[in-house]
Amino acid sequence: MSALPDPEVDVGFDLIVVGAGFAGMYMLHKARGMGLRARVFEAGDGVGGTWYWNRYPGARCDVESMEYSYQFSNDLQQDWHWTERFAPQPEILRYANHVADRFDLRADIRFDTRVQSAQFDEPSARWTVRTDRGDVVTGQYLVMATGCLSSTNMPAFPGLGSFKGQSYHTGAWPHEPVDFTGKRVGVIGTGSSAIQSIPIIARQASELVVFQRTANYSVPAHNAPLDPDYEAEVKADYPAFRERNSQMMAAFGSRLQVPDRPALSATPEEHRQAFDKAWERGGLGFQRSFNDLMIDSRANEIAKSYVHERIRGIVKDQATADLLCPTQVLGCKRMCVDSGYFDTFNLPHVKLVDIRPKGIEAITPTGVRAAGQDFELDVIVYATGFDAMTGSLLKIDIRGRDGVMLADAWSAGPRTYLGLNVAGFPNLFTISGPGSPSVLTNMIVSIEQHVNWIGGCIDWMRANRRRSIEATPQAQEEWVGHVNAVASGTLYPGCNSWYLGANVPGKTRVFMPLLGFPPYVERCNQVAANGYEGFELRA
Ligand code: FAD
Ligand code: NAP
Repeated sequence: MSALPDPEVDVGFDLIVVGAGFAGMYMLHKARGMGLRARVFEAGDGVGGTWYWNRYPGARCDVESMEYSYQFSNDLQQDWHWTERFAPQPEILRYANHVADRFDLRADIRFDTRVQSAQFDEPSARWTVRTDRGDVVTGQYLVMATGCLSSTNMPAFPGLGSFKGQSYHTGAWPHEPVDFTGKRVGVIGTGSSAIQSIPIIARQASELVVFQRTANYSVPAHNAPLDPDYEAEVKADYPAFRERNSQMMAAFGSRLQVPDRPALSATPEEHRQAFDKAWERGGLGFQRSFNDLMIDSRANEIAKSYVHERIRGIVKDQATADLLCPTQVLGCKRMCVDSGYFDTFNLPHVKLVDIRPKGIEAITPTGVRAAGQDFELDVIVYATGFDAMTGSLLKIDIRGRDGVMLADAWSAGPRTYLGLNVAGFPNLFTISGPGSPSVLTNMIVSIEQHVNWIGGCIDWMRANRRRSIEATPQAQEEWVGHVNAVASGTLYPGCNSWYLGANVPGKTRVFMPLLGFPPYVERCNQVAANGYEGFELRA
């Protein structure tokens, strides 16, 4: 690897971007296309963000690969070939690297460099950004492309650090493959990352102990090589395919023919038919089998019972099957998509441990103490998730107008206007920020929509000779109210999910993402068309 460049001091840019995942990469490309001088800082030593950090076995997309990709370049989407229905992490990382090469992005990205602080200077209306390598640069605009799921959550278990074996967090996995052959492995957590990695770890380990606090809903992926006819069909009409997806509530899945009707008006046979079809097809479409599953708890119970029946049909030991049946509202924690997760518990060397009500009692030098027992282990895998949506932002000392810290402005939970800007923080944009659809969508689609909006906004400001843009407190209050009102009309806020910040002790509970991509985009477009209503623009 080549030596890192010297720190930049007193260098001025038009735009500074933090993060070189899909958001930061496209923001850089966009900025260059607009003739802006941009600098990107990235903590990792490569591009790809999520797909750079999450290299655990089994990591893959659960949005289909023909949809989970950029659409800003038709040549790119025509040229790139995905090999599987759901792309695996190494392939998505290769794609990110291909994009970086193709558009020569690396030249403007400083890798291995973590942004530590950002301060707004009122007289110049510019941000000063400082990094852990000594860079001190200024920019008129600051774009936080720091990711929604990029700050790992490592619970403060008693004795953490005392373990003498190997420990890994799924969200910060080593670059070299980890060999579990013949090892006694413990996995803490049963969210998507655990559910993807457990079947693969089980194939190698001599013993696998899964420590479960909350059982999760998971539907099979039925992953397979990408059907070449399907690929050709999509590529023949890619822009129209993208357009149809953009009309979906979560910005993906338009090719699924789902009945737009409530479960409550269907018969038990119709429920079974619809759920069987969705289960056999695989993937997140299950949640859309009926249109009232996330609105009416009686409808949700019907879907829940179906999943329980499926789990009990797969897992042979009934006590284990019972433990694997989730009790919370289906979908209020993000649903998982798996390849053989429930079957794994039929293997004789795999054990499920219910850690309620005490949780993990301790990490010991030899393993894990839970459910009143000591488990001797060689490896512990922490699949304990992320400080989602706000974690990476609040790790940076961000100070806006009058030196106000973002952490203070958000002490009662994140507050934004459109999930794009925060009152008191002029010229700062958050890509897929709290208050935008972000994690409830195909995120690459949401990222591109945000970058395009930010690009349009900067263009407008230049054309109209404005130096700064900032949400008005009133527009922000109304927006926060709107996001809450939309969520409270559904079952989403109904359990301890990371959408609410409930997975991190002490984090304020606020439902952070906004439901519904199409109405959101319409609102963003309307705001722009009306001269950026809700924002204060200074000359
Ligand atoms: P990220 O990819 O998280 O990139 C943010 C970057 O910012 C990181 O590289 C990080 O190092 C950098 N950074 C953060 N703070 C700093 C700092 N202070 N200084 C410098 N750099 C910093 N979404 C879907 O739509 N479909 C899926 O199937 C899907 N699967 C996922 C699977 C996993 C395992 C995970 C964790 C997430 C998944 N997601 C999925 C969500 C995924 O995060 C997004 O799809 C997308 O990759 C986010 O891109 P991003 O650029 O916004 O953020
Ligand atoms: P997660 O969904 O937050 O799951 C974390 C797991 O760790 C949960 O089972 C949680 O239990 C457990 N846990 C957390 N703190 C704990 C503690 N103190 N003691 C015991 N158990 C604890 O995290 P994730 O699995 O990494 O997934 C996060 C998100 O990333 C997903 O929801 C999804 O958006 C994305 N993702 C997607 C895919 C994909 O298929 N494409 C794969 C991985 C991740 P509780 O539920 O009880 O809190």
